Amino acid sequence: MDLQSLVEVAQQTGTLPHFPTQHFIDGHWCASADGSEMDSWDPGTGKVFLRFSAGGAAEVDAAVDAARRALNGPWSRLKPPDRASLLRAVAQGLRTHAHRLAVAETLDSGKRLVESLGDVRGAAACFEYYAGACDKFHGDAIPLGPDYLAYTVHEPVGVTAHVIPWNYPLSTAARGIAPALAAGCTVVAKPAEQTPLTALLLAEIIHAVEIPAGVVNVVTGTGSSAGASLVGHPGVDHVTFTGSVATGVNVMHNAADQTTRLLLELGGKSPLMVLADADLDRAVAGVMDGIFENAGQICSAASRLVIDRRIHAAFIDRLTEKTRALTLGHGLRNAGMGPVNSAPHLQKIAGFLERARSRGAHIRCGGHSTSDPQTGLGWFFEPTIVDDLRADDELVQEEIFGPVLAVQIFDDLEQGLDLANGTRFGLVAGIYTRDFSNAHRLAQRIDAGQVYINEYFAGGIALPFGGNKRSGFGREKGMEALRSYSKLKGVAARL
Ligand code: NAP
Ligand code: MG
Repeated sequence: MDLQSLVEVAQQTGTLPHFPTQHFIDGHWCASADGSEMDSWDPGTGKVFLRFSAGGAAEVDAAVDAARRALNGPWSRLKPPDRASLLRAVAQGLRTHAHRLAVAETLDSGKRLVESLGDVRGAAACFEYYAGACDKFHGDAIPLGPDYLAYTVHEPVGVTAHVIPWNYPLSTAARGIAPALAAGCTVVAKPAEQTPLTALLLAEIIHAVEIPAGVVNVVTGTGSSAGASLVGHPGVDHVTFTGSVATGVNVMHNAADQTTRLLLELGGKSPLMVLADADLDRAVAGVMDGIFENAGQICSAASRLVIDRRIHAAFIDRLTEKTRALTLGHGLRNAGMGPVNSAPHLQKIAGFLERARSRGAHIRCGGHSTSDPQTGLGWFFEPTIVDDLRADDELVQEEIFGPVLAVQIFDDLEQGLDLANGTRFGLVAGIYTRDFSNAHRLAQRIDAGQVYINEYFAGGIALPFGGNKRSGFGREKGMEALRSYSKLKGVAARL
């Protein structure tokens, strides 16, 4: 079906026919052993649209066991170019089913359809990138002198667990699963309970292209049950966890008992610095995308604007005007901004703004919960700018994970840098300036895993991504991700 027809069916019925709803384990679809199920909501209407299996220890055991057998079985015997062909076929499958995947992602997560389509394209590009990498990731020969032969080999780390959040369900699944498979690992994925659907649709594609049974398994359910069973499982060799700092700490404790390897992609409170000489059109566009894309529910959102006092007033006027003009609506209608993901999350965002109001904060626009103006339904928050905040304000220090921009003003670059570095997070940073010396000096001194100069979110699958400080450790994307899913072995022989 073409995109428009799918959208019409979804708008009329609230869902699409034939969505998968069960776990995908060892190449089969199965319900939970105890029959447990749970609901997923469409955040744009606040209504349930999917009932899916809720797994726990029994399903995780079965999935880890299948992943171990596949690791020791057919998967380890495939040559890298054969693994590459399978990954390429997944990329093609994602493209073939892009419209259905995008509508599913919008229904489940709330994000605008254009963003969901972009996420599906990104997921396909991710599988293609790692298909290309399968046979190009190799060790070194180490020169020990004429009487020795020494070399290193990258071996697959083994059974890998992937715990996925609700803000980029398909993208996060792809950016973990594709490099894990390219490195020769097998996978058990646990999507967020709010957004299980696209991980299951990805499993359908993986099944259809005949990746051997057990190589990729998906167990749906809650974090406290399926998630905790998975990350503490003795049969898991590596955990990639993407989510909040609090849960990441819990996962770390849980994995410690088995000394399981960890990659933690946690939260952020990323600064976007605008220097007085910046191209202000570009900077305004960067801030708008940086904080209002996906309704601000992005780990790397530009949630803090750190701006030179000399341009502050005029810049905020322009930004406020553009922000007020943003329309809200269900993700399938592609309004300017979609809903936030759940009712509890909406309440949490509203709580931040209530407290800010009681402190007398300068709220330039927005600041309230609302609904889809066309239907009166759904979980929406007005796009919000809070001006001239102190460095110790809660809105500066805490990740809100919503469409709320915190503004901080500096008088000189040193002070600006202190403000930029002045939180416990270190995920990304943006710098807008025409002075490239200043840009690169700041890039050196900002404590973040990636720095975007004059284009926020620049990069793509080839650029490594990950956090510093409490934003986590380890790197995904790029060739670096292959290292995350490999064990390096050194071999030395006396000739
Ligand atoms: P979350 O509550 O930490 O949940 C993330 C995932 O962990 C979900 O699948 C959740 O399952 C699962 N989980 C919960 N408790 C668990 C436990 N005890 N053991 C194992 N797994 C458990 O985070 P979220 O609120 O969904 O996501 C938003 C957060 O993710 C933000 O802080 C954001 O910055 C961060 N994030 C970071 C990145 C990055 O790349 N650095 C990317 C995206 C998001 P259930 O949902 O089913 O409970
Ligand atoms: Mg949902």
